[in-house]
Amino acid sequence: MKAFTLAIFYIVLSALQLAAQNKCFHPVQTGENNNAISAQNLRDIENFTNQFITTNGNTIVTESNIIRIPVVFHNLYHFPEEKITDLQVAAQLDVLNKSFRRRNADSVNTPAHFKGVAADIEIEFHLATSDPRKRSTTGVNRKYTPVKVWGPDDKMKMAAETGADAWDTKSYLNIWVCNLESYAGYASVMGGPADKDGIVISTLAFGAGFKTIVHEAGHWLNLKHLWGDDNCGDDGVADTPKQASYTLGCPTEIRRTCGNTTTGDMYMNYMDFTSDECVNLFTQGQKTRMRALFASGAVRNSFLSSRGLDVPLIFESPLPDEMPTWLKPNLFPNPATNSITLDLSYDSRWVGKTIFIMNLSGQTVMTVLITAKVQPINISGLQPGMYFLATKKEDGESIKQKFIKL
Ligand SMILES: [Zn+2]
Repeated sequence: MKAFTLAIFYIVLSALQLAAQNKCFHPVQTGENNNAISAQNLRDIENFTNQFITTNGNTIVTESNIIRIPVVFHNLYHFPEEKITDLQVAAQLDVLNKSFRRRNADSVNTPAHFKGVAADIEIEFHLATSDPRKRSTTGVNRKYTPVKVWGPDDKMKMAAETGADAWDTKSYLNIWVCNLESYAGYASVMGGPADKDGIVISTLAFGAGFKTIVHEAGHWLNLKHLWGDDNCGDDGVADTPKQASYTLGCPTEIRRTCGNTTTGDMYMNYMDFTSDECVNLFTQGQKTRMRALFASGAVRNSFLSSRGLDVPLIFESPLPDEMPTWLKPNLFPNPATNSITLDLSYDSRWVGKTIFIMNLSGQTVMTVLITAKVQPINISGLQPGMYFLATKKEDGESIKQKFIKL
């Protein structure tokens, strides 16, 4: 019964954590909070985009004009459940591509008064087949990290911080998938440092059905939030009605704000904060803004000559994932007679810590200093029965395991 209660508690807790997640951490794109170069880059991109829109309008682009973006996922996991599977990756790319190509089944839910501006962006995202050194790749790079929770500070983009360095950001869209805990995802600011360019998605918001990636890919392609991150602010797109602020949940009524008396807010647009199951369109205006980035001389033009989707020149049998197979403490054999072994190979920082062995009354009956990553413990002196083994290290990770001495 107790175990059952505990299981319920964890399920509720993780559901609450997810609900409490912020939909998107995205700095206001004024450049104010960046350095002078980023601010100037941002102004240049904005000027270029506005010029492109003035010149081209919402040009209808033909099928031959589909832009294919090579994608690499850097999956940083600490716990085994944070390791994303090929099936999850495929399901997530399917959501992303269907949304960008307006082949999403829920496009039928776009209200009639917005259907006319809904657009097939004609941009697709494909797993890279050739890495920057022209070696074969699956496009998914999984890596164990001792870090349990990441913040929106780009550290996951640095190998020196036990993250993963970006692949050439002029040729690949880099997507880091790691435990962001408090955020569903965030995208780099336009015009920022090249080695930090890309998208970060929390493992809690990744896979089939999740649309955080669609929203963040929108930012990566220069889209702003519908409310322009200001009260009735400007998103630089003519066919998205001005709206006062973000939308939460899944409304159905017409919400009139900022004088948008005809149609009301376009809260079913991917660039709002509405629940995933209720967003279903990008617009023609957003399409033009995104595609302006690929014009000659624009910041993402280099993607048109990316070699990331080529047949690789060097075929190698896939490297084993850059990770150990041991992901958490392993205590064996259990039950044990004279000796039990605690395998802590996944993190050398356990060495030097103390193990406490407690009986059922909570009294410490033995302490053992950890001197090796695979630590044998002599339990021959213990009375037969059930015991708890506990230890803790500086980053807060603790181990508490039960074992039986025969
Ligand atoms: Zn956002």
